[in-house]
Amino acid sequence: MIIAIDGLAASGKSTTAKQVARELGFTYLDTGAMYRAVTLAVLERHLDLKDEAGLRALLSELSLELKYNQDEQRIYLNGRDVSRAIRSQRVTSQVSAVSALPVVREAMVKIQRELAAKSDCVVEGRDIGTVVFPDAELKFFIVADYATRARRRQSDLQQLGEEPALETLMEDLKRRDERDATRAHSPLKKATDAIVIDTSNLTIEEQVAVVVEHYNHYLEKRKGK
Ligand code: C5P
Repeated sequence: MIIAIDGLAASGKSTTAKQVARELGFTYLDTGAMYRAVTLAVLERHLDLKDEAGLRALLSELSLELKYNQDEQRIYLNGRDVSRAIRSQRVTSQVSAVSALPVVREAMVKIQRELAAKSDCVVEGRDIGTVVFPDAELKFFIVADYATRARRRQSDLQQLGEEPALETLMEDLKRRDERDATRAHSPLKKATDAIVIDTSNLTIEEQVAVVVEHYNHYLEKRKGK
C-alpha cells in the first residue's frame, strides 16, 4: 500500500510523513532527499545544468542508497552519508533547478518505484500522487501559510548552525514554490483525489492524527467491500 504525501516546501509534510510511517509500521520514503543528493553531486562536480551529457554520465554512475537507522532515513551518495549536507542552504537554493530537469526526474522516479515495490510505504514529495504513484490508495496534499513555513525552516536551519533571516527564507520559499509549480515536467500540483491538510494551526500530533484517521477510515471502507 502507498500513502502519498505531497505539498509545499516546509509545510510540515516531512514531519507528518515520518510519524505516520512510524505509527503504521510503513517504510518512509523521502523523495526530496533524493533530489537534494543529486543536487549536491551536481554542485560538487561543478556541472553546468545545460550539460545534458555530463548529467547523464553523473546519473549513470550515481549510487543513491537509503538506509534506516531505527526508523530514521539516512541517505548515502556514492557510499557517503550526506543526510546532513543535503539540508544546507546551498543545496536548498539549487534543488528546484536541478529537479526541474527531465533527465534527473526520470532517473529518480525509476528508483522511487523500485523502492516502493518492496513494502508498504509513506512516500513524500511533490509529484507522488500525480505522477509517481497516481494509483496510491491514499493521497494527501499539505499546505501552510508562508510565515509559518519560514519559521519552521528557520528552526530546522538553526539546528544545522545556520542563522538565516526570516525575510530571506520567505523569499526562498516563494521562489521555490514558483519554480516547482511552473516547471514543465511534473509540476507541483494537487492530485484531484488528494485530501488537503492545512497545518498552519495544527500541532504535529494533530497533523499526524488527521492522516491516521483517514487511513483507518480507508481500511474500514475496504473491509466493508
Ligand atoms: O521536500 P524537500 O523540500 O526536501 O524537496 C526539495 C526539492 O526537491 C523541492 O523543492 C523540489 O524542487 C524537489 N522535489 C521534486 N519532486 C519530489 C520531491 C522533491 O521535484 N518528489
